[in-house]
Amino acid sequence: MAKTALLLLVCLLGALQAQTKKTVFLITDGEGVAGICRQEQVETTNPELRALLTAEINAAVDGLLAGGADEVIVWDGHANSSTLSAQTIHPKAKLVIGGLGRTMLLERGFSAIGFIAQHSKAGVRSGIMAHSYSSLGIQNIRLNGKPVGETETRTMLAGWFNTPVILLTGDVKAAEEMKALVPEAETAAVKEGLARYVCLSMSAAAAQESIREAARRAAAKIGKIQPYKISGPVTIEIEYTTRNSLRIDAAAALGGEVLDDRTIRYAGKDFLDAWTKARMW
Ligand SMILES: [Zn+2]
Repeated sequence: MAKTALLLLVCLLGALQAQTKKTVFLITDGEGVAGICRQEQVETTNPELRALLTAEINAAVDGLLAGGADEVIVWDGHANSSTLSAQTIHPKAKLVIGGLGRTMLLERGFSAIGFIAQHSKAGVRSGIMAHSYSSLGIQNIRLNGKPVGETETRTMLAGWFNTPVILLTGDVKAAEEMKALVPEAETAAVKEGLARYVCLSMSAAAAQESIREAARRAAAKIGKIQPYKISGPVTIEIEYTTRNSLRIDAAAALGGEVLDDRTIRYAGKDFLDAWTKARMW
């Protein structure tokens, strides 16, 4: 009897531990790295980008673990997911390589997500290499009529899965986007955009230190920041660039409502429904 009770207690503690294990999922990009300001610098084969981005991610992993996270999973989210390597990623982090589709693994129910090396949405003045998913293909994305970029849509996606955003690193404008959505999220702005391809950057060492500290503060907020949720039906409009105007059979093939030659609108009962319907590429 005592043995059974003890076994039950051990099982219960195990389950409790699994529940309280704090796993942070990091969505990484390339345009928001300190010292990266020109378009050719964000090529995934650029050794400087690889080294600088990896070091910023590893600083974030360090900070998150120091701040109380138990596990950090890093998604190689820049371009075609070929910038990071298991050889150089933080020894205690896990790396996700490849495209993740619409739900981005968030159905796994992470404790929190963070953005590393993020840029601002298309059209933002002084946003370094500002764009929304595709700098050549997409002019604007609007959600319920309001312009949104990668930070907003992914924060909303995470919110749909009850996952809060605790951290963003990138340029000043990306950090402002994050704060406007989730004021409690920690940010590290590692460079200031003077124009699209002109920046005033911190040194790599200073940027990494700032990211480590922001990540440490962010990890301590796990469980204290609420997921970002939007209620009610959602429309997502994709406005393409001139050379990427909608194909002849857009309405039938893509399932949206064609608004003009370059703009299509998708409607859903909630964020995930609209998000799943929307075709961006
Ligand atoms: Zn991006």
